[in-house]
Amino acid sequence: MRIYHAPDDGIVVRGPAGSGPLRDSDGPLARGLVARGDVPPREALERLIASGPVDLHLHTSASDGLESPAQLMYRVLRSGLVGFAVSDHDTLSGVRDTAIILDKLNQLGIKTPDLVPAVEISTRDVEGGRHLLAYYTHGGEAEIESFLETQTLTRDVRNRRICERLAELGFPVDYEEVVLSAGHSIGRVHIAHALIRKGYVPDVQTAFERFLSSGRPAYVPRERVGIREAIATVLASGGLPVLAHPAHYGWCGRGGSFLRERLEALVEVGLEGVEVVHGDNTPEQAAELAAAAKELGLLRTVGSDWHSLNRQGRRMFTSEDDFRELLLD
Ligand SMILES: [Zn+2]
Ligand SMILES: [Zn+2]
Repeated sequence: MRIYHAPDDGIVVRGPAGSGPLRDSDGPLARGLVARGDVPPREALERLIASGPVDLHLHTSASDGLESPAQLMYRVLRSGLVGFAVSDHDTLSGVRDTAIILDKLNQLGIKTPDLVPAVEISTRDVEGGRHLLAYYTHGGEAEIESFLETQTLTRDVRNRRICERLAELGFPVDYEEVVLSAGHSIGRVHIAHALIRKGYVPDVQTAFERFLSSGRPAYVPRERVGIREAIATVLASGGLPVLAHPAHYGWCGRGGSFLRERLEALVEVGLEGVEVVHGDNTPEQAAELAAAAKELGLLRTVGSDWHSLNRQGRRMFTSEDDFRELLLD
């Protein structure tokens, strides 16, 4: 899969290498996915960032977002952005659905922003959980699919244990019902919704505070892949590894070389970029991240981490949100 760019003048439409001329029957994933020349992945993403406001971190109902890919697409079309990335947790299924919708819109003559196939991988280092964004500007998603399936299995094991704990606590939920009500990548938020449907809690926040957060009675830690291994896997599959929201890990505002040292350790194992602008960042945090990323030669990216209205205070970026001064030299 490549950056999905609406066909227009000067753009070469082509499918996988060596696949010959493209036909309608090849479908959107082959026919509509377009190479932006023969530039390396990092440069392709940097060019997109330079071309106008983008939002490279969006979730759909394929993971824990509330909106379907079609609903997200409607929002993206109204946003005025030049590019966007669907980056669900541990699954590319939302990307595939979005690509199909884009293809239909293009067939109707509707110009669409560029779609960057992406996935947000749950990883850990010795100090805690870390989210790694992988951008597939040049294809490679087939190579990472088996890795993502393993991620799904570890999620499944954990989800079942959480449901067992809830049953022991006297709040049984049917995990099969949770599975049926969710998208591809199932997590605690879907169990929270099941607790609401059962009438045990009034809202998601209460579900987490009473049962599901770390330290609460139904919390079960999840087996997570090490971030070094995840970076290596992303690189081997042709993806671009970018660290998501470092401020969430308490890495900002610590002074001295705290942030730089942590990023540097990841650069040594292949990290290519860092999410400098995030929906939760203060301007000070964004400036600190931009300076550190620039010093280390990392690609600087921007993403709202939009999940729809289930994340308070967060909104999707639009053409009004132009952060290029922070992201480019
Ligand atoms: Zn995240
Ligand atoms: Zn996210």
